[in-house]
Amino acid sequence: MELLKAYVNGPSAVPLLYKTIGEALDDTVARFGDREALVVRHQNIRWTWAELAERVDACAAAFIALGLCPGDRIGIWAPNCAEWTVTQFASARAGLILVNINPAYRLAELEYALNKVGCRALVTAASFKSSNYIDMLQTLLPEAAHFPPGALKAEKLPSLEVLIRLGDERTPGFLNFADLPGLGTDAARARIAELRGLLQPDDPINIQFTSGTTGLPKGATLTHHNILNNGHFVGRAMGFSEADRLCIPVPLYHCFGMVMGNLNCLTHGACMVYPNDAFDPLTVLETVEAERCTALFGVPTMFIAELAHPEFDRFDLSSLRTGCMAGAPCPIEVMRKVVDRMHMREVTIAYGMTETSPVSFQSGTDDPLEKRVSTVGRVHPHLEVKIVDQEGRVVPRGEKGELCTRGYSVMRGYWDDPEQTAAAVDEAGWMHTGDLAVIDPDGYCRIVGRIKDMVIRGGENIYPREI
Ligand code: AMP
Repeated sequence: MELLKAYVNGPSAVPLLYKTIGEALDDTVARFGDREALVVRHQNIRWTWAELAERVDACAAAFIALGLCPGDRIGIWAPNCAEWTVTQFASARAGLILVNINPAYRLAELEYALNKVGCRALVTAASFKSSNYIDMLQTLLPEAAHFPPGALKAEKLPSLEVLIRLGDERTPGFLNFADLPGLGTDAARARIAELRGLLQPDDPINIQFTSGTTGLPKGATLTHHNILNNGHFVGRAMGFSEADRLCIPVPLYHCFGMVMGNLNCLTHGACMVYPNDAFDPLTVLETVEAERCTALFGVPTMFIAELAHPEFDRFDLSSLRTGCMAGAPCPIEVMRKVVDRMHMREVTIAYGMTETSPVSFQSGTDDPLEKRVSTVGRVHPHLEVKIVDQEGRVVPRGEKGELCTRGYSVMRGYWDDPEQTAAAVDEAGWMHTGDLAVIDPDGYCRIVGRIKDMVIRGGENIYPREI
């Protein structure tokens, strides 16, 4: 009998979306304008899709009025907040490439990231946890105070011209985010309207730096098409509709927040609910109850912290139906508790990486519970995955090898880094993930380790999972 190859693709009756993020916003406003789009608990914000879109358009017009042009890079350095999301959608409207900066970055990493992709503008929080971002930026850009806002010329960051800070305080050389709606001229608004017809789904629109276990951070460059579709299909796997309210405690600077959270809600008209600026188990539990959330996201350690919270039993979580656990191996016991104690009977597991927008496997809400808690599900619609051996040959089902993904989700490449791009995405279009996986005869996948973590002893490959 011929061995079944470890190659799968995701047939789907649902076509890929071929539109920009701005067009998707227009569609959602037309369909669900009066429904809630965004609730930010720590900022006391509650906006409908129409209200959000109005803020997005005003912000996009300001970006244009400040001289930013389609294709320019704009960084965002802030924990979860409403301004993050307004900037995400406004930059997409204006055709600017949003550069996600990790809120935990120190000065050297910030300087490297902004210079690597040549950011012309930066939207920054004032501070977060132990980092005073304004102090850090003033150290890096001592000349900032001597230039009018928007006309910076700095030695260490030669591309950076526009600094925009959040909060009410003023800082010489910086604009305030709240000033933006006043900056958009008629000409800028007309330009935004004109761009609706010019921007293309295949334009790069987002750069995310991958942590990278080795070497310097690399800027994975993603298009509207990459991330809008991935967000859409992540929501479909959870049975999303405009009736859903998704609690998003994961960071927006990572694709888990801004794609699987924000763009998923955008494409389904569902509501984005941010419990806090950073993860805190108690505010997640409070938010789910108070906002009657139907879905909850998290990496496994977040769910573990919520379940272990001393006040867990005080909360009514019965509104929950589904959600997604991802980002690291999801222990079976935790999945079972999430189903039993958090009422997430339709919870899913997703697997992916930044370079693939991110998700390539996700369990379905109707998969048998056993498969749902013990595997990362089956391949996502429209994507192909194969498992290969060290020679790059596809292995049989049930055998372990490197997981490779091909399809609409694969990034354009690493920004300004053709060598690293060629090392990651081969000539046939396969992204080599570096993850070790096994696909079973039914197409369910288990992630069993990382190639880089492999130890070779006496000619035998040993993986951490095996020790
Ligand atoms: P990032 O690009 O930061 O999203 O990290 C992606 C990496 O996280 C993948 O290459 C995997 O090693 C790991 N990962 C993501 N989801 C899962 C999962 N469900 N199970 C195991 N590992 C995962």
